Amino acid sequence: AIAGVALMALSGCSARSSSSGSDASGFKSGSLIGVALPDKTSENWVLAGKLFTDGLTKAGFKPDVQYAPSNNTASEQASQISTMNTKGAKVLIIGAFDGKQLGSQVKAAAANGAKVIAYDRIIQDSKDVNYYVAYDNFKVGELQGQALLDGMKERFPDAKTYNIELFSGAQTDPNAKVFFDGALKVLQPKIDDGTLKVVSGQTAIAQTQTTGWLAANAQTRMDTLLAGSYSSTELNGVLSPNDTLARAIIQSIKSAGKNTPVMPVVTGQDSEAASIPLIMSGEQYSTINKDTTALVQQAIDMVKELASGKKASTNSPATNNGSVDVPTYYLAPVLVTKTNAAEAYKNNSSLEALVKANTK
Ligand code: BGC
Repeated sequence: AIAGVALMALSGCSARSSSSGSDASGFKSGSLIGVALPDKTSENWVLAGKLFTDGLTKAGFKPDVQYAPSNNTASEQASQISTMNTKGAKVLIIGAFDGKQLGSQVKAAAANGAKVIAYDRIIQDSKDVNYYVAYDNFKVGELQGQALLDGMKERFPDAKTYNIELFSGAQTDPNAKVFFDGALKVLQPKIDDGTLKVVSGQTAIAQTQTTGWLAANAQTRMDTLLAGSYSSTELNGVLSPNDTLARAIIQSIKSAGKNTPVMPVVTGQDSEAASIPLIMSGEQYSTINKDTTALVQQAIDMVKELASGKKASTNSPATNNGSVDVPTYYLAPVLVTKTNAAEAYKNNSSLEALVKANTK
């Protein structure tokens, strides 16, 4: 028993590298911290910008928070980061627009002795990424896949097989593939055994992508799928990777009259305010809560650790970015449906109020 306890303690240690090691020489309060966020493709990004500005200021740093504009986004974000480097940022917190296009900017940061924290989206194919902080995005995908199955069982209790369609996010966002892979881990065995039928036949990620994470693109694709494959076929569910796209897909389903007699199950992610009433009415089946406040706070805590000359805390196996294993801190995503919405948002007064206002 004693050996067991010792083993547990040991394995606990390796999974949970604490912030005791020293990494940088540290830096002064008042130092510049660059925060480069992608374009505002969902509410979480909008909220993150404000939370970083407020939180870093409160912690005694000088934040420079920039969003990539929605045109020429990859190159504009790269030049925003170059400017942060020139101004002498000590840490760069980056939510990449395109995970593969920032190699030379993070290399320049490393040459300046600055640390790079990939925020929410990993930066790919670069050895100059020091940390990754995110919600466990593979888990997000698994929760979405499971929600799709559970929701269809609930809504179509007599069905033995289900007709579904699959959507994924932007090609440029490394998370899009992670969400999709997580969902397919749950769904693929059911596709293989015939329980699930993707009627359009579009199961390869390249066929399911939504350029720019734009609602209009998802709506157009859903319109085309419904017209091409469902004129006389029932649709039971749609895997949607986030709430913005879910609402567009729901719109398309309603325009095509496919919401009756039973609304198909549509998944989501992000707990966007506009989706809460839809979840409470059942039009959208599920979302995922990835509380932005907690994620931003974790990133700021990492900056504080680095400022005092320590390593930043990690709590998970490192994430391979195609070049190196990046030390990782993961937060846990939570699946939300009508059933647990009140409980899930009890620490978020505005979402909690939306749940109450939409509870009959
Ligand atoms: C984020 C999601 C978000 C999507 C589109 C992803 O990288 O993890 O939360 O829905 O970007 O903005």
